[in-house]
Amino acid sequence: MGKVYLNKKISQRVSNGHPWIFSNEVNRVDEAIKPGDIVEVFTHDDKFVGKGYINPQSQIMVRLLTRHKNETVDEQFFYNRISKAWDYRKKIGYTENCRLIFGEADFIPALIIDKFNDYFVIQTLSLGIDIWKGVIVNALEKIFNPKGIYERNEVPVRELEGLEQKKGFLSQPFDTNIIIRENGLQFYVDIENGQKTGYFLDQQDNRRSIKHIVKGADVLGTFTYTGTFEIHAAHYGAKSVLGLDISENAVAQAVRNAALNKLENVCTFQTANAFDVLKQWGKEGRQYDVVMLDPPAFTKSRQNIQKAIAGYKEINLRGIKLTKPGGFLVTSSCTNLVSPEMFLETINIAAKDARRQLRQVTFKAQASDHPIIWGMENTNYLKFLIVQVL
Ligand code: SAH
Repeated sequence: MGKVYLNKKISQRVSNGHPWIFSNEVNRVDEAIKPGDIVEVFTHDDKFVGKGYINPQSQIMVRLLTRHKNETVDEQFFYNRISKAWDYRKKIGYTENCRLIFGEADFIPALIIDKFNDYFVIQTLSLGIDIWKGVIVNALEKIFNPKGIYERNEVPVRELEGLEQKKGFLSQPFDTNIIIRENGLQFYVDIENGQKTGYFLDQQDNRRSIKHIVKGADVLGTFTYTGTFEIHAAHYGAKSVLGLDISENAVAQAVRNAALNKLENVCTFQTANAFDVLKQWGKEGRQYDVVMLDPPAFTKSRQNIQKAIAGYKEINLRGIKLTKPGGFLVTSSCTNLVSPEMFLETINIAAKDARRQLRQVTFKAQASDHPIIWGMENTNYLKFLIVQVL
């Protein structure tokens, strides 16, 4: 097995348990290695750090899979990791749908698996994990006997690893338009063409948090995608719900989902650019009892953080202005690089600009099936805030 020796100044991150080793942290690579090989990692003075997969082409040269010298990375290893991840989800209350594997947080870096009841959607985002795709599929077959497995690997980040972008069946072909249940409601999930893996499971716990504040309310939901928050609002007793998304396809799905739940009389959806429409409606003096914002990530690179923050400030300012005094703003951010503190501060500035005071109802992260591992900041990415706007 190839050996990798780290520089003398091993970064605190790695010794604290983070699995990423950047190329500038590596002193030398022993023996001939092939991209994707499992290697052993040592400190400069020959202390064992762990085993992981290597890709010299990637900035993250090694991603560690285990810190145990006696653990072998083989078919059984992946079976065990996936079984354990499922046991954990069951233990904390998930039964049908969950993010089964959340990469680093489940100690399988760069692997994402979403479980939609009997169907599984996989992303293998690095070369070192892509090599094990067949093994991972076998493990899923053994543990779950699934009705279908699909890969959504048309993700640009794979190109940094020298991988092509692609999507397709990893099991016998099946009808990729499925229906899942969530919080007593039903939603179509388009596994083949929906955004990301087809559905945003990371908000599944948070969608329940709006239950009380939407009762009898006129609700505006923006960045609605397939209408999940909006349909929850209607289910929990909202008087009227309007959902906006820039994608016509998303709006069509939202309309279908409202009908599936027999809530089409309460829910309306429109194709619109939220930035433009919210500004316009603010000028017109429109107001709602509850305004919900769930925009996509505004940046993936550090250079653009200020721009992303300006985006959050802008959209939240508009949202606050559209909220009736005593009404509620439900606002999210899934931009990894915007920390919870930065997010709260941005909302604070927006409220000051709007000359409105906020009373915090709840502040959370993503659903618990996307575990946050302390010491791995990148696993703590979603911010979900409900405030009363006074
Ligand atoms: N709330 C959804 C997820 C939203 S994902 C859920 O819980 O499932 C973000 C959505 O914002 C995408 O559907 C995307 O099409 C939409 N979007 C992106 N830019 C937009 C804009 N300027 N105005 C309105 N919608 C936008």
